[in-house]
Amino acid sequence: MNMFMELSSAPFSYETLPDAGRVAYFSMEIAIHPSMPTYSGGLGVLAGDTLRSAADLGVPLSAFTLLHRKGYFEQHLNAEGVQSETVQAWNPADFCTEEAARVTVQIENRVVTVRAWRYDLKGQSGHVVPIYLLDTDLDLNSGWDRGLTDHLYGGDTNYRLQQEIVLGMGGVRMAHALGLRVNVYHMNEGHAALLTLALLESQLGGGPQNGATDADIEQVRRKCVFTTHTPVPAGHDRFSTEQSIRILGGDRTAQLEKLGCFHEGLLNMTLLALRFSRYANGVAMQHGKVSRAMFPEFTIHSITNGVHANTWISDPVQRMLDEHVHGWRRDNLYLRNTIDVPEAAMLAAHAGAKEELLADVGSRTGLVLDPKVLTLGFARRAATYKRATLLFNDPERLRQIAVAAGGLQILYAGKAHPQDEPGKALIHQVVEEAARLSNDTLRIVYLENYAWDLGARLTAGVDVWVNTPRRPYEASGTSGMKAAMNGVPSLSILDGWWIEGCIEAVTGWAIEDGADDTAEANSLYSKLESAVIPTFRDDRGNWARLMKMTIALNGSYFNTNRMVKQYTRNAYYPERLKEAARVEEGQIPVLSS
Ligand SMILES: *Cc1c(COP(=O)(O)O)cnc(C)c1O
Repeated sequence: MNMFMELSSAPFSYETLPDAGRVAYFSMEIAIHPSMPTYSGGLGVLAGDTLRSAADLGVPLSAFTLLHRKGYFEQHLNAEGVQSETVQAWNPADFCTEEAARVTVQIENRVVTVRAWRYDLKGQSGHVVPIYLLDTDLDLNSGWDRGLTDHLYGGDTNYRLQQEIVLGMGGVRMAHALGLRVNVYHMNEGHAALLTLALLESQLGGGPQNGATDADIEQVRRKCVFTTHTPVPAGHDRFSTEQSIRILGGDRTAQLEKLGCFHEGLLNMTLLALRFSRYANGVAMQHGKVSRAMFPEFTIHSITNGVHANTWISDPVQRMLDEHVHGWRRDNLYLRNTIDVPEAAMLAAHAGAKEELLADVGSRTGLVLDPKVLTLGFARRAATYKRATLLFNDPERLRQIAVAAGGLQILYAGKAHPQDEPGKALIHQVVEEAARLSNDTLRIVYLENYAWDLGARLTAGVDVWVNTPRRPYEASGTSGMKAAMNGVPSLSILDGWWIEGCIEAVTGWAIEDGADDTAEANSLYSKLESAVIPTFRDDRGNWARLMKMTIALNGSYFNTNRMVKQYTRNAYYPERLKEAARVEEGQIPVLSS
């Protein structure tokens, strides 16, 4: 099969593959529904988009996550930009159905009972991907244990390791208790790596860990697939030997040491996942390279992230595509045909999305922004490497740029983790600079509580999406992909996905690498002055072509429809596909199941 055949839209159901078992997808966070606070940011949104596309494509997949009864947090900013947080309580019964099954896991010598709530995620053709949200809030459990599935990324590392036992080990046991026939376990990030220990224990039939043979370990490896998401060593989950012995137990810790899952004296969940996976990947071409350099003893592929088109494209652009681009909902490759959309239709659709965004900003803040003014968007987790203040490097030059553009509006948003003091300081700094710099021509606004709904509005409604990470810290980034789907070009550092997506002056612009922040800020200003503003202000035809190219070239590729097909073919069922090809060629008969 050549690449184009693989990506084609031939009616192909994974259900009919010979002996296709189920994929069990494990993720600490999943953005399932805008009103379910079960995610914090990019990782959860990616997980949700993956499942939405798996449902659309008919992949036999079930997902496991924690319930996060108290959510991540709702962000409040005071006038100075000081962040405070409140819990996001929600009622699982409003969205999910409780399963009758109960399983147990051992944590620090305690037996903790786990139940699951099922959310049925339905795809375009009606195929259902069930998502099981694990919950320890049961009378059988002690007060502490009842809270283990409350807070996403809350508490300390002891809490985290205990949550990871519930997710990984509880999830595997729940899959068995529910009678799912799973033959692929996909760990989305190292948080789920303990599922390998549960599989090994099941392989050993309850026998002692030290009885595991190489063949036992190989049996587990054949079932496991792992996606790593961070290019920073400190971003990988790590726990001390003392924690491992106390929380997981001495036998398991000894086994993990024997298998080389400790690095610099710490249990490293990425190493654990890699040791037990037959297939591992990073989330963009560059991230694959960085991961191979970090873990040279492993084969690490790359499958570039995407976003779920129907979820992230604004209503006005969806209507425009429905009119002009046939088949794009079922097969995102057809977005390539946006090349043929009339320029006026593209401009009008985006104007509609911008109007919706500015109305939303108005209702959130009371500010009236101008739909004709060039509007930049910058929204992401407030981590220092993302350099939210790079645009303020030379405030005077930024003011001049605003004048030259005939006005400039910059919309910021992003949460800092409650324990991330440098991140919180960054938000405070952006809000203060915004207040100091804003005038009649330059309007800078920091929007509270960045989440799914605001993310969708922003990426669809601004004119240019800006991303300024310090290289090579951005594994992929997906907000720029959401923008691209909506015809919004990016102006970004060449890191993560943008290395693959940037075609200069066609899909956006690259901020050139420089020796330091000032050099990179200067490149950002130069691109605004010499490329973005003249086109936006004086050449609407070219601007419309840029928007169309952004959807045609990047929307057609950076989507989860393509991404899930790549996971299915390369990670989940590489052998089955060979069989399927032979079935198609009539070499072997289709087995009925
Ligand atoms: C898409 C999205 C993200 C991830 O965007 P990045 O570009 O990876 O920063 C984070 N948070 C929300 C709410 C999103 O919608």
